[in-house]
Amino acid sequence: MTEARLGRTKAAAQILDESTESGPPAITFDRVGVSYGRGRKTTAALVDFTLRVAGGETVALLGPSGSGKSTALNALAGFVRPTSGSVRLGGRDVTNLPPAKRGIGVVLQSYALFPHMRVSDNVAFGLKSRRVPRAELTARVTEALDMVGMSAYGKRLPRELSGGQQQRVAIARALAIRPGVLLLDEPLAALDAQLRQSMLAELQRLKEALPDTAMLYVTHDQAEALALADRIVVMNNARLMDVDTAENLWKRPPTSFTAAFLGGANLIPCSVGRVIGTSALVSFAGKTVSAEAPQPAVGKAAWAPKSEALLCVRPHALRIGALKERGAVRATVNAAVWRGATTRLVLAVTDLPDQLLEVDVPGHVRYDIGSDVGVHFPDPAGVLVQAAP
Ligand code: ADP
Ligand code: MG
Repeated sequence: MTEARLGRTKAAAQILDESTESGPPAITFDRVGVSYGRGRKTTAALVDFTLRVAGGETVALLGPSGSGKSTALNALAGFVRPTSGSVRLGGRDVTNLPPAKRGIGVVLQSYALFPHMRVSDNVAFGLKSRRVPRAELTARVTEALDMVGMSAYGKRLPRELSGGQQQRVAIARALAIRPGVLLLDEPLAALDAQLRQSMLAELQRLKEALPDTAMLYVTHDQAEALALADRIVVMNNARLMDVDTAENLWKRPPTSFTAAFLGGANLIPCSVGRVIGTSALVSFAGKTVSAEAPQPAVGKAAWAPKSEALLCVRPHALRIGALKERGAVRATVNAAVWRGATTRLVLAVTDLPDQLLEVDVPGHVRYDIGSDVGVHFPDPAGVLVQAAP
């Protein structure tokens, strides 16, 4: 372990009051509730939010705007006070501790750099308030700026930097205190698409460089969550909907919300027939196909024969073929939109009123709007998802 790594680990251990891997989680949310306002105008921004993040783990909070992601992050950072429940860092209850005493690094979408301070002073800010000695301070500012490739810019003012560079400085400022916990709230949202891609790669690199740091990464962008997170928390309506590895949530979405939010999905109402192990026969539009029937989560009902469920099929998994081919489901082309690598078709299924199917066809393919096509499902056709209650 390098000196710097060792120092960071020790600092993290002090901040977290935790020095063994089997100790308490780096981050604990214990049934946290946050309400804004009083009386009749109360908004429940976060309801019964429970989550544990291990040291070194990166967890993304993913969800639509207004789903409570920032509220959760702010409750941990100390910027909002929970109405109920508690937050812990390394097992230590910090619910009533002021933000500066929590030893957390925070990066916000708006950068929030001090405009009148040079880059190096911005980065040094947290160290000065911690009374780090002068000689060490310079070394740590350099180290933090090095980590984001900004060491040549120490003398600049924030306004003399591009948006991407300002965000790097904000990250360096958060890292300078060598936090055991790093919180990022939509850090790339203000950047243009191309810069977002390169910053995303930098964040991946940073994550590798900080193997002991727990990160909580708030985003509404599933691509960012997939690229960075060890686990993803899907949020909706102030609540945690699902939490698992990205791969599990993608392959076997526990809820229709997660199926649709993470990657886009066709959710076709179907009735469940025979179930054998993790495989089921399901029927819709007069056809019977096989589907994956994942083990239900603890406390959830198993797939019962004759029950109603949703068949989740990703748009790229469907194939367009001739109508008279065996197994074809008849549909009418409502829209065809070229997206570069693929053409996205929106189809109305003839035997399922109101059911639209999205299909991604490779390349640039032209279809006549209103023409009929045959849709072919793979085998198994998709994965079963519980119908929304
Ligand atoms: P997200 O980060 O997922 O977009 P937020 O956590 O910011 O969502 O907001 C969750 C809910 O709380 C929203 O309905 C939002 O309007 C509300 N909210 C957030 N901050 C405040 C505030 N300071 N005062 C009142 N309501 C707020
Ligand atoms: Mg937010």
